[in-house]
Amino acid sequence: MYRLVQEHPTTSVKMVFLEDKNLDMRRCNAPTLCTEVAAIFVDSESKIRTKDGIDKFVSAELPDPCTDLRLFQIVKKCMVHGPCGTININSPCMRDGQCCKSFPKQFKDDTEENVNGYPIYRRRATEPVQVGKYSIDKQMGSPYNPWLLKKFNAHINVEVCASVKSVKYLYKYVYKGHDAASVKIQKEGALDHDEILSFVEVRLAVHLPQQQPIVYQDGQEAQAIERAALRKTTLTSWFELNKNDPSAHNISYSDIPQYYMFDKSTTNWKKRQRGGQNVIGRLPVFSILDTERYYLRMLLLRKSGAISFDDILTVNGLRCIAFQQAC
Ligand SMILES: [Zn+2]
Repeated sequence: MYRLVQEHPTTSVKMVFLEDKNLDMRRCNAPTLCTEVAAIFVDSESKIRTKDGIDKFVSAELPDPCTDLRLFQIVKKCMVHGPCGTININSPCMRDGQCCKSFPKQFKDDTEENVNGYPIYRRRATEPVQVGKYSIDKQMGSPYNPWLLKKFNAHINVEVCASVKSVKYLYKYVYKGHDAASVKIQKEGALDHDEILSFVEVRLAVHLPQQQPIVYQDGQEAQAIERAALRKTTLTSWFELNKNDPSAHNISYSDIPQYYMFDKSTTNWKKRQRGGQNVIGRLPVFSILDTERYYLRMLLLRKSGAISFDDILTVNGLRCIAFQQAC
């Protein structure tokens, strides 16, 4: 995996190369697992807007071997699609008896700009040439740039991007970035588990007044309620913390675990000495149909320093009757 950005030495053209193993490289004489996509950006004066401009930079035709024998040989070797269709029905591009890349293309005397975002390149009818055991004509050539082809002697398909549609297609490859993974390498057999380095998730309770969940065994409901009355939840304990500790006032409920630790035995929030940067407070998510808890959660995300449910319900000195109203 790599990314290479090169400035063209003689022009202001910038090229971005990216690997993309999904692209079809079957035509290449030396197939590899992946290929590269380059977006070539040109300044506004150099933009290719006319069909003459397209013909100057991009061709889909087999060149005349008498004029440029080397280019002719490279195009013949690297830029001829297939062969597919009736002469080679087993070509990998064939789907239901048709080439999925729409080859062979139509003969065309003149280039046509911008048809569905791409030009239709000129393919003038000439005598076919022999490529291996097949007789090939201009209907099977992929668009190329002569300079690039002679420089790299490889399959380089070049398209003039003329509309948002094609630009979007290209940007998808250029800007999606490569796959990334976080990997830690450690000595074999060495136990190196550092809890401080791992993220710790703290689940925070979000419940309506006197509606915290209680776990009980059958027949012991009354005792469970008594016990629950003595214990605070992370939420009611947060109210207590805000009553007693002014330094907690600017910290929202969801951020409180970064600075304080919830002691389950005393059900109190205690100031952390270290390690809080790796702690994430998580609030349960409620459906909007569960209206009051849904809006209470929203208020808790925004309001810091609350000392009671009443405090959360009070907006600009007025006590609302519902969390939805307070929102
Ligand atoms: Zn094909």
